[in-house]
Amino acid sequence: MRIGIPRALSYYKYFPLWKEFFTKFGAEVVVSPPTNKKMLDLGSKYVVDEICLPVKVYFGHVNYLKDKVDYLFVPRIVSVERNEYTCPKFMGIPDMLVNIENLPKLIGPTIDLTKRDNKLWKVVLEVGSLFSKNTYLILKAWSDASMSLKKYNQDWLNQSFPEELMITNIDKKEQGVLNIAVIGHEYILYDKFLSMNLLEKLAKLKVSVFTIEMVNQKTINKEVSIIPKKIFWNFAKNAIGAAFYYNKMGEISGFINISSFGCGPDSISNSMTVHHLKNTQITKPILNLTIDEHTGEAGINTRIEAFYDLLKRRVV
Ligand code: SF4
Repeated sequence: MRIGIPRALSYYKYFPLWKEFFTKFGAEVVVSPPTNKKMLDLGSKYVVDEICLPVKVYFGHVNYLKDKVDYLFVPRIVSVERNEYTCPKFMGIPDMLVNIENLPKLIGPTIDLTKRDNKLWKVVLEVGSLFSKNTYLILKAWSDASMSLKKYNQDWLNQSFPEELMITNIDKKEQGVLNIAVIGHEYILYDKFLSMNLLEKLAKLKVSVFTIEMVNQKTINKEVSIIPKKIFWNFAKNAIGAAFYYNKMGEISGFINISSFGCGPDSISNSMTVHHLKNTQITKPILNLTIDEHTGEAGINTRIEAFYDLLKRRVV
């Protein structure tokens, strides 16, 4: 059985988990190649105009995989933490896929952990029942897969980039001249096409990069607890919590916010972060990069270099 996983969106957060789970049952996991212009152009054909860039790209990856696999893994991720949600575009993906013709069969569990009685093990058994009737085997496969995800996440917490991301030109151990917190969704930042290779550009300037994934969840939750109203958009909460945390870290010289044009959660997190940073005693410069399919790389390079020069003058 060949199962396709698009290299986009939730791939960057959960790929090791699902890959390990499926291969435990002897399935072959096929991942689409890194994003390219053709994928974006094809993906854009299937979505409505208002959709953000990462979702357009997702459709390009689905289109690439559809004739190469028996099943496509397309979960509907509504919520991964109680009383918090992903984003409407993210959770609506399985519905929008009807625009693509001749899709293979979908493995599309709904992951919605908002309510106390919505349990992940039910999702695991639902997906696992495709391969086996033995509950023990399914749960054992899940337990092994969870260990792979733990290792993946631990790499980030150790301030290195997991191997699966194929970010090979950056050596975090060699400390750079400047430390910059780069705040952005993992599916933008670690997708070299979408981020226009931002991480490697910063590495060439000998900048050490700190991202949302390098802050543990407990710290993020603690940081956002100073906000009087609960932030129920999970992505926005993580971005804000990480930015608040890095703001307090003396060695961080500045921030780069990278987001997609038309992103609702980012419009909240970016303005709340800027507001908070301005209100603290610590003043750190922020560069906001908003990307869409018309963004030119030369313009991005100029802005990064100008920001780097500014920070260097302040710090060195
Ligand atoms: S959070 Fe933003 S970038 Fe991500 S899917 Fe939703 S709208 Fe798009």
